[in-house]
Amino acid sequence: MTQTTVAIIGAGPIGLELAISLGRQNIPYILFEANQLGHEFSKWPPQTRFFSTPEHVALAGVPIHTPDQIALTGEQYEAYLRMLCEMFAVNLRNYERITAVHKQPDGQFILHSRTRTAAHQTRAQYVVFATGGLTRPRPLHIPGEELPHVTHYFPGPHKYFRTRLLVVGGKNSAMEAALRSWRAGVQVSLSYRRSALNFERIKPHLAMDIGDRLEKGEITFYPSTVPIEITPSHVVLASTQEDGSPNGRVTRLPADFVVLATGFEADMSLLAEAGVELVGEEQAPQHNPDTMETNIPGLFVAGTAAGGTQIHKFKLFISTTHHHVVNIVRTITGVEPTQVGTTTSRNTAATYEEVKAN
Ligand SMILES: Cc1cc2nc3c(=O)[nH]c(=O)nc-3n(C[C@H](O)[C@H](O)[C@H](O)COP(=O)(O)OP(=O)(O)OC[C@H]3O[C@@H](n4cnc5c(N)ncnc54)[C@H](O)[C@@H]3O)c2cc1C
Repeated sequence: MTQTTVAIIGAGPIGLELAISLGRQNIPYILFEANQLGHEFSKWPPQTRFFSTPEHVALAGVPIHTPDQIALTGEQYEAYLRMLCEMFAVNLRNYERITAVHKQPDGQFILHSRTRTAAHQTRAQYVVFATGGLTRPRPLHIPGEELPHVTHYFPGPHKYFRTRLLVVGGKNSAMEAALRSWRAGVQVSLSYRRSALNFERIKPHLAMDIGDRLEKGEITFYPSTVPIEITPSHVVLASTQEDGSPNGRVTRLPADFVVLATGFEADMSLLAEAGVELVGEEQAPQHNPDTMETNIPGLFVAGTAAGGTQIHKFKLFISTTHHHVVNIVRTITGVEPTQVGTTTSRNTAATYEEVKAN
């Protein structure tokens, strides 16, 4: 059995930043990743840009320089993550999923893991869940959702050129799928369960663009509708009242493809099985925000995992969770880590000190 001091579960940006921070203090750790480093970004549509600017997603005090200084694409960020991993010789065990975490009577943890070909066990003094908050698409539970022309992951617009695409959703991902597809020669319709888009919750550049497209009728809008069935040739949309309940009217809309941009949800089952108390509808792990330690001593949460499913408001993302790394490293080692988040000279609004203060 392998022995380590800190087992980090999840090599997203925050798990990676924590690994680098522990490595800088010579604390033995293993960074387990069920898929590939930065798996989240490989699920993004090609050439999708961050909403955050580069300094907000920089890690471990290592700046991100780009020729154009605008927000990075997912692909550029993957390259940055790989570079950090090599630069700091991060002890990454990719394609190794943690399947169970058991606390032992002596206070240590046994982690059970699986690779494609074998099962392993690791003994660790501390465990950090940096498992993210976007594990799987939020299902609609309607007939036809599993058909091959239906997806929760927008694959980029080319696939839909000269076809009829229905995009379902009213937030940034839906707007991006609708606008990119329309611009790529797709006949786009948009279904949203509310009577109007909430432009204040859509990124300004997307809000302006979609407003223009809808006003000109270039994208057909079906407000106050929800899909209730998808067939190979149609989507059945039920009209809803202001409270979201159906009013009895249905529209059968022809569609060649359907993108269900209805959000993602976290899988908190591993935390629950490890004994962590999950609070409220969002199932946020119970933890002390000053240390990030949960109700299980020695077991911590970091990054978006700390917010559970975040169904009400997405407050935790990269730039607002760097301070989790600081709090965990300080609690475990007693030493305040520096070089977390962006370079100090950038002085962004989301340096961890400011996030902590708000
Ligand atoms: C289209 C889109 C645009 C976005 N834009 C932004 C933006 O502009 N700014 C921003 O800050 N955020 C943005 N986000 C959200 C961003 O992806 C998250 O904030 C970020 O990935 C969270 O980092 P994390 O390290 O907390 O978790 P993740 O990046 O989710 O990493 C968690 C990792 O844990 C691994 N894992 C899970 N369970 C296990 C297990 N049992 N064993 C081993 N490994 C496991 C997963 O495979 C995953 O790699 C966007 C998301 C989307 C979809």
